[in-house]
Amino acid sequence: MRVISDIAEMTSFSQQKNAAGLSIGFVPTMGYLHPGHVSLVKQAAKECGAVVVSIFVNPTQFGPGEDLAAYPRNLKRDLEILDALKVDVVFTPEAKAMYPAGYGTFVNLETPLTGKLCGEFRPGHFKGVATVVAKLFNIVLPQKAYFGQKDAQQCIVIKKMAAELNFPVNIVILPTLREKDGLAMSSRNTYLSAEERKAAPEIYQSLLLAKKMIEAGELRAEKITSAVRKKLAGLKNAEIQYVAVVNASSLEAPVLLSCEILLAVAVKLGKTRLIDNILLQLS
Ligand code: AMP
Repeated sequence: MRVISDIAEMTSFSQQKNAAGLSIGFVPTMGYLHPGHVSLVKQAAKECGAVVVSIFVNPTQFGPGEDLAAYPRNLKRDLEILDALKVDVVFTPEAKAMYPAGYGTFVNLETPLTGKLCGEFRPGHFKGVATVVAKLFNIVLPQKAYFGQKDAQQCIVIKKMAAELNFPVNIVILPTLREKDGLAMSSRNTYLSAEERKAAPEIYQSLLLAKKMIEAGELRAEKITSAVRKKLAGLKNAEIQYVAVVNASSLEAPVLLSCEILLAVAVKLGKTRLIDNILLQLS
């Protein structure tokens, strides 16, 4: 396994692999790896000739007052995990190489999609995400890139960005991996106190409640969101940022439920912002 931090060296590796007829599978991450990340890497290894994983805590996707400085990091452990998975390259660029002084080019999606759900609580977040992913695609030159459904809105934004900027990259979305008690795996779970960790699975339980209501025939989004909010109201020291029952492509709230539905929530448990979602296909 090679660890590359130089941008030109990364691109040259991918060009050589492509010239040798090998496709590149790319998994962008912010590190502090868990089995959710591992599932993406394993799928990339199955489908591609070479696997590149990036570890980069991208400053442009964090807002003022967010957890950029505190974001958990453990490069040594991450490299051990990726080495055991026989990844070809771990790309670890420096922030000052990605965004040198005077940097001024950003990818801004002009669509209501980026202002909804997480976009409402994290202004500028998806601009930072789209910018770094576009830059990484240009550096790593992947044929396939792997993302987790856990970040549902990010998946939608990246698919749109890749299509509209004509990146020749196939975007693959894989299911959310969960802890045994249902909590969606996340690097940020490490912030939770013992008490918060114990309470956190309630978030997934609230999504399952919504799913159950829909499967039992409830078609009014408003009824479902208020039941979910009521369930989440039992969480101590929690701020419910949003409870959404929306069209899974447009993120618009339907009056009556039909088609593919995204059930999504964001909750701040103490200082930790947690998101989760499930997809439901209605016939
Ligand atoms: P992050 O390091 O949190 O930026 O995540 C890197 C990639 O892993 C993103 O595509 C995430 O959606 C994905 N990911 C994060 N958590 C999970 C999870 N629990 N299950 C599957 N994929 C995940």
